[in-house]
Amino acid sequence: MNTIFERDLEAKGFIDLPIDPSIDLVEEIKKLKKEKNAVILAHYYQEAEIQDLADYIGDSLGLSQQAAKTDADVIVFAGVHFMAETAKILSPTKKVLLPDLKAGCSLSDSCPAHLFAKFKAQYPDHLVITYVNCTAELKALSDIVCTSSNAVQIVESLPAEQKIIFGPDRNLGDYVKKKTGRDLVLWNGACMVHEIFSREKIDKLKADNPGAKFIAHPECEEHILVDADYIGSTSGMLKFTIEDSCETFIVATESGILHQMQKASPSKKFIPAPPNNSCACNDCPHMRLNTLEKLYNCLKYDLPEITLPEDVIARAQKPIERMLDISAKLGL
Ligand code: SF4
Repeated sequence: MNTIFERDLEAKGFIDLPIDPSIDLVEEIKKLKKEKNAVILAHYYQEAEIQDLADYIGDSLGLSQQAAKTDADVIVFAGVHFMAETAKILSPTKKVLLPDLKAGCSLSDSCPAHLFAKFKAQYPDHLVITYVNCTAELKALSDIVCTSSNAVQIVESLPAEQKIIFGPDRNLGDYVKKKTGRDLVLWNGACMVHEIFSREKIDKLKADNPGAKFIAHPECEEHILVDADYIGSTSGMLKFTIEDSCETFIVATESGILHQMQKASPSKKFIPAPPNNSCACNDCPHMRLNTLEKLYNCLKYDLPEITLPEDVIARAQKPIERMLDISAKLGL
């Protein structure tokens, strides 16, 4: 590998070569995408300008499934590291690129595989269900993977006497416990974005916007979820705002989703739920590391690339397949 590339990837996590300021970045990215037979996936939490040039926009697992179905040679995942790993697990023969290798995730980082392996060893008769927001190594240690939209049904599909470890998100785990009445052993992890919301400020916002519906992602804490009109995955929340007749929604999840909500329902009003600090936003700092410039260089130089050991891919595929089998049987 070229030393400039090695240095950039190690120190910065992305290729930082100068870009001619006179070029139209969006047009050049589209050209490169065609030349390389690539697809661009953008998570709902990406900047609007990245969402607008993506081939597919969605939740992490859905995007990886879409990409696996295409005949693209290259997948560029505008999202975070564990999402690009999931794309690699589902498309092992395709080249998977992530514009910034340092686009991590506080939730995924809160559950290192080596510590989880020790935790799991304490419960030898438990089945391990992990939320898709985790590393490939963690998926490889799991029996079933789930998403925020099917976690409740996956747990309910198992016999009542089956003991279960659920990780890495404690808030989603608490929500699943409450909905299913099952006694899950939880890993104590969390997403920094979904734990930032202020109950007090949300109550004030509701009082200022009578009739508004409050919708929340199940990664939020229980005291935030307690009076939500709808709780669901990012895709579920988007669908809810399209189908529901309410004109105003207070949205408790990463603010990037508001772009798609507004595009899908231009006449409705979407208000991001306020965080408990002085910052006016609830952006994921990891997601926002991706930029058009990094996306361009990533496509141009085919770097940074996500690679995984073959055995990790093979072991991580199984819990995902199990989830898909259960989902198919349940008609989800
Ligand atoms: S929003 Fe939370 S779960 Fe999603 S990538 Fe950011 S830190 Fe991770």
